[in-house]
Amino acid sequence: MGRLIVVSNRTPAPGERTQPAGGLTVGLYDAVQTRDSLWFGWSGEQREDALEHPVTEERVGNVTYATFDMTPRQYDRFYLNFSNGVLWPLCHYRTQLIRYTREDCEAYYEANAVFADRLVPLLKEDDTIWIHDYHLFPLGRMLRDRGVTGRIGFFLHIPFPPWSVARLLPQLKRLLEGLAGCDRIGVQTPEDAQNLRGCFDAYGLEADVEAVPIGIDPIRFRQQAIESAAAEDVEQIVDSLVGKRLIIGVDRLDYSKGLPERMRGYEMLLKNYPEYRGKVTFLQITPVSRTGVESYRLLKEELDGLVGTINGAYGTPDWVPIRYTTWPISRNVLAGLYRVSDVGYITPLRDGMNLVAKEFVAAQDSKDPGVLVLSRFAGAAPEMPEALQVNPLDAEGMADALHAALTMDVETRHKAWSALYGEVSRNTAGSWAKQFLDSLEASRP
Ligand code: UDP
Repeated sequence: MGRLIVVSNRTPAPGERTQPAGGLTVGLYDAVQTRDSLWFGWSGEQREDALEHPVTEERVGNVTYATFDMTPRQYDRFYLNFSNGVLWPLCHYRTQLIRYTREDCEAYYEANAVFADRLVPLLKEDDTIWIHDYHLFPLGRMLRDRGVTGRIGFFLHIPFPPWSVARLLPQLKRLLEGLAGCDRIGVQTPEDAQNLRGCFDAYGLEADVEAVPIGIDPIRFRQQAIESAAAEDVEQIVDSLVGKRLIIGVDRLDYSKGLPERMRGYEMLLKNYPEYRGKVTFLQITPVSRTGVESYRLLKEELDGLVGTINGAYGTPDWVPIRYTTWPISRNVLAGLYRVSDVGYITPLRDGMNLVAKEFVAAQDSKDPGVLVLSRFAGAAPEMPEALQVNPLDAEGMADALHAALTMDVETRHKAWSALYGEVSRNTAGSWAKQFLDSLEASRP
């Protein structure tokens, strides 16, 4: 078997190379550990003279991490403006938030060409290449054009919209032609697969698209949850609730996550079901992200205001309805917090997968499990029909679901949780990578 080459915009930071943290890192960790691998991508550093600097390599176990720096211009135009200011809102169906300029678009293709030019000299003939996510749509074709003959796979971690939405992107055809340079394309849900196939069809392009939903490592996460629920920092939080029921939400501060809508759903619970006033606490952990993009700054202002308004209107001197933080909490502590929560309140407007939903399920105590209230627009929703599924735009419906979750008897909770945990255990991070790579390597290059 040849080497596995993973290409992603960011490579795991040196600290994450032995202890994977994020979803993508966890998913690929097993795959890259078990064979000779190269993980190639941006170092996370910017410097004016980046293009004159060579690729840096570090070997950890079976994996060589090969990274390079970006120029500030590349960071602004390729990463912030085009990847996160055009492709991200487009793929999350938020077309009004798209800020397109042709200069940013060209910078995106130039940056992809830099990835290609720097990767090709590191490749061997029988390498299998696996490209990740929307930053690198055109890379497959660029590698082919530079003479790469091995198998090339692509996985899209975010949603893909239907043709009627996707066609708003100027030069969509160019983007898809680049993507069609890959032998196999994985997406998160059957809906994403159908949408992407529809777009390829619209241009008469041939591509092999398959839904392969990403998972977590449920056994490891569950163990972590058990340990950390008993640890001091989580116990202190539980003590501070003095018996109040706990609803938890965990998301990067992103407009795809439906955070203002979620606050309105909770506000509606307090309005329509006054018996919960003083009896529940909603803990929303929301680390800020992409503060270089204007829409993220505006969202933070909106959310700060909304939380303040709800807390001011319903709070009492001894009860704060919403506890809200905008800094990250370590995943280990999160695991314990999920376990001690009564409700996982996870209601994105659109989400590629949403690993938090799966983590919440994995963390529960099987004897007294919490209830998952999940948006039907999360990528996880088709795999999780036993969750209480909601439409985040329907505040009354969200309030009713929270009420149903808070009053559900233990048998019903246990039945739903068992089914959800079964699915989370069947479809893990490891099986996701294996399934994709097996089918990629069985395909004809
Ligand atoms: N996460 C974390 N600390 C935080 C918030 C989130 O470690 O303060 C983790 C969370 O446990 C999950 C990941 O970040 O593993 C978020 O993945 P998800 O698919 O839910 O959303 P994304 O951020 O990729 O859109």
